[in-house]
Amino acid sequence: MTRTTSIASPANTIPITITNIEIIDLRFPTSEEAHGSDAVHVDPDYSAACVILHTDSAHQGHGLTFTIGRGNEIVCQAIRSLAPLVVGRSLATIRANRRGFWRSLAQDSQFRWLGPEKGVMALALAAVINAVWDLEARVAAMPLWRLLAEMPAEELVAAIDFHGIRDAVDEASCLAILHANDPTRSERIARVQKDGFPAYTTSCGWIGYTDEVVRARCREALADGFTHFKMKIGQSLEDDVRRARIIRQEIGPKSTLMVDANQRFDVAEAIEWIRPLAPFDIWWFEEPVSPDDVLGHAAIARAIQPIRVATGEQCQNRVMFKQFLASGGMQICQLDSCRVGGVNDNLAIMALARTFGVPVCPHAGGVGLCELVAHLILVDYIRFNPTMDGRVCEFVDHLHEHFVDPCVVKRGRYLAPQLPGYSAEIKRASLEAFAFPHGPEWTRRAAAKSAQHNGASR
Ligand SMILES: [Mg+2]
Repeated sequence: MTRTTSIASPANTIPITITNIEIIDLRFPTSEEAHGSDAVHVDPDYSAACVILHTDSAHQGHGLTFTIGRGNEIVCQAIRSLAPLVVGRSLATIRANRRGFWRSLAQDSQFRWLGPEKGVMALALAAVINAVWDLEARVAAMPLWRLLAEMPAEELVAAIDFHGIRDAVDEASCLAILHANDPTRSERIARVQKDGFPAYTTSCGWIGYTDEVVRARCREALADGFTHFKMKIGQSLEDDVRRARIIRQEIGPKSTLMVDANQRFDVAEAIEWIRPLAPFDIWWFEEPVSPDDVLGHAAIARAIQPIRVATGEQCQNRVMFKQFLASGGMQICQLDSCRVGGVNDNLAIMALARTFGVPVCPHAGGVGLCELVAHLILVDYIRFNPTMDGRVCEFVDHLHEHFVDPCVVKRGRYLAPQLPGYSAEIKRASLEAFAFPHGPEWTRRAAAKSAQHNGASR
């Protein structure tokens, strides 16, 4: 029997007010070893704009959004600018009107000129909204996925802003999706607690890795139980064909291979580039062109079938997801926990994906994205899209050691998070060591660079 009353536990009746927002510009020097490198982002320093909501209780809310280095300070400043809209709010009033609270930030009458709901402001919004949901789940003493899995359908629908997507999915049709899935919901909750959710690995296919590293990473991933592998493409076709051959040799014919161009191409170029790779049996071609090119994605999808087109990690918001899904240009929906406006917007995107019959295979990696999607993929499976067939969630094995509640992937599957909250809390020691630019990990590097510069100029 599915519990639906747990959020009314005694802990929830204690009034809690947000008193302060702590913001940390956190950066890891991942570019030093080419982790995360692709055809476009050749030297990422995986970073996060971190938010800690302090309250007048012992509870905190932790949230973040992900960037790849320079500019992270701009996102931090945007969060700072949003802070007056959040500080002083009580959790009870937020919970009583989640959609209204979300809109008060996303559609603030002056801030909205900077977006609306896109770019730096959307990233900042995601960090804050994610932190609020973390706070709510901690107060409810439940992991976020469970809080959302058990939330009454009407309450879940009431958290979603349908503005801009009502022609595709509205309150009534979303409620119908949830109600249709409700009778079997408890079975899926039990299943994910036992078996988790299928993951795929991107760690074997970074573009900056040597062939030897690629082979070694494939073998490690196979030994770890992965069956789905993704490689980055787009710098050199000759290299891509060679690397695809190596990976296919290593993973064998039964495993699944996907490729990701990170927006590298124009439409005709993308269609040509994938042809010599098709013999390696490619399931999906990810981000072939600009993340804003709705028509281009659709044209590529028509031209390269049965290879599917996957996109979404840099799709700005639910309204753009609607365009991609409706046009046939998004055949795999790669929602991102931090790109759009946090949990609320992702619930809208799950409803859209269900409406258009497109599988959700979330984007992850970076800093904390795996920790967060470990929750979202379960919510999608339990509430919106009730199948694991043809579904995998990205996993990249970097930086998890910095998290208080790191995601756990075993035998190629994400295990269901167990601790209360949204798993976004980063260890205090890591926040201090990698704070940019004054944390010791960065001052040490700056000193070494300066010494090198002085030595060279002598
Ligand atoms: Mg990608």
